[in-house]
Amino acid sequence: MITGPSGVGKGSLISLLRHRIPELELSTSATTRSPRTGEQQGVDYHFLDQDEFLEKVAAGEFLEHAAYSGNHYGTLRSEVEGRVAAGHPVVLEIEVQGARQVAESMPEATQIFIAPPELAALKQRLEGRGTDSPEAIGRRLEVAEEELAARDEFHHVVVNDELEAALDELEAIVRGKLSQSDQ
Ligand code: 5GP
Repeated sequence: MITGPSGVGKGSLISLLRHRIPELELSTSATTRSPRTGEQQGVDYHFLDQDEFLEKVAAGEFLEHAAYSGNHYGTLRSEVEGRVAAGHPVVLEIEVQGARQVAESMPEATQIFIAPPELAALKQRLEGRGTDSPEAIGRRLEVAEEELAARDEFHHVVVNDELEAALDELEAIVRGKLSQSDQ
């Protein structure tokens, strides 16, 4: 499971990592936030409305879920449990509250926290991405400050300072885990 503040580059790192380790399967999360331009239903997220999301919460369909920046996000059990039972490695890209829940319910999962070199760099990246309003960026930075304080709760911390170096580090952690699971 890969966690860390929004905008820290979790998504880019994971997609590069999956080029290097193609057997990694990505869990597609559910969210109540609106799709961004180019995002596809069922590919980037399962986009649900509030009622649909809460029904699934009540039905126990989520492995973890959290309210984040005014929306709900969650990992559906159906995305993870069958694959894990079949021995396939699954990657979750989730924020910190959800990561804590997974650490509790699946202690065998490897926990990796991606940290930005500093908050200024995170702000620049969120602004550079151009997908969020200044208010939304402000909210995300506030949450990011809180999230950074959580870094030491997780097994590994990878600082995304230089992309290639962070990717190498991430790859080494994941390959280490995969070789353990093969034994
Ligand atoms: P975004 O709106 O930028 O796609 O995602 C906002 C935050 O929600 C990011 O930190 C992202 O990693 C996190 N997130 C995405 N999917 C999930 C999920 O299934 N569960 C939780 N807890 N967080 C998620």
